Amino acid sequence: MKKIYFTPGPSQLFYTVEEHLKQALKLQVPSISHRSQQFKDIYSHTAKELRAVLKLPDGYTVLFTNSATEIWERTVQSCIEKKSFHLVNGAFSEKFYQTAKLLGKEAMKAVGSEGNAVNMDDLDIPDDVELIGLAHNETSTGISQPLSDIYELREKYPNPLIAVDVVSSAPYIDLDFNKVDIVYFSVQKCFGLPAGLGVWLVNERAIDKAKKIESKGLNQAKYRQLTHMVEEASRYQTTSTPNVLDIYLLGKVAEDMNVKGLDMIRRETNYKAAVLYHCINEHPYLEVFIKNTAYQSKTTIVAKTKDSSQKIIEKLSELGLVIGSGYGKHKDEHIRIANFPTHSKEQIELLVDQLNKH
Ligand SMILES: *Cc1c(COP(=O)(O)O)cnc(C)c1O
Repeated sequence: MKKIYFTPGPSQLFYTVEEHLKQALKLQVPSISHRSQQFKDIYSHTAKELRAVLKLPDGYTVLFTNSATEIWERTVQSCIEKKSFHLVNGAFSEKFYQTAKLLGKEAMKAVGSEGNAVNMDDLDIPDDVELIGLAHNETSTGISQPLSDIYELREKYPNPLIAVDVVSSAPYIDLDFNKVDIVYFSVQKCFGLPAGLGVWLVNERAIDKAKKIESKGLNQAKYRQLTHMVEEASRYQTTSTPNVLDIYLLGKVAEDMNVKGLDMIRRETNYKAAVLYHCINEHPYLEVFIKNTAYQSKTTIVAKTKDSSQKIIEKLSELGLVIGSGYGKHKDEHIRIANFPTHSKEQIELLVDQLNKH
């Protein structure tokens, strides 16, 4: 039986990936040299389509890594000399904070209260903090930090770089990139691609900061140093052999998303999220985990289950509908449902029908 994956990453592939994959094999994309003109054309095409999808301003460079996890490490190594501050709404934003600590930085954090995003009124970020990190969509808890909060950070704290994790919200998120400096995601969530590719978007402020740290001899990165990556990227080149196949597929999927239109993708996402939250609100055995609607994620819907979440997960799995369990300590008491651009209204309605029966 062919299953439908509603897991929050890896998830159901974007519905055009199968055709693009066939075409990629026909073109022998996985065999081409990453130093060839053919690869440069692929990189350039993917960057162009991504710029359009995300409305990325010119000052930004599009870089490729292996994962978002790698980007945490590269960001700390290249852009923080001493101090960072982290808004923590769950396990992923906590991991970025931990990475900074592990690499010897003086990392500070503000943690949202249970079921809430970090309250902006509680923040008091010291003047000498060099970078503020946060996740727009905390995939582990289903908490979304409102865009207005992110913009408020820039107004209140104009000096530090702002690094935003949009792993499970891009391209749904309609972010003004002029108000932040570093934005990143990996492709196995909302873009519906095979895992193994991270996209690191950096502006000139971030690059300048990296240059400053390097000039003092304090840069910690050897493999994939930010300034080196940016230099290579100016010729559509990479510092090591990249995931050429995924870069090719990302360009194709971004192109399809541009044809469909981001307004349409956002409208559909909002509709499907409303259907899912309505179902959970009415359900006898489920409860929406994030009560404050201002913080409810549209792309990762999290519900508390009355008893072990494994029962409902298994029931749905028998029907070919694969949903996620809770993350970390919430494994047995939550279910998580991905509402990504690849999931059609019909698929979400099918899932809701079955949820209602169990
Ligand atoms: C999945 C996820 C990550 C980690 O992505 P990898 O590709 O596994 O490194 C980071 N942040 C968020 C919000 C995620 O959902």
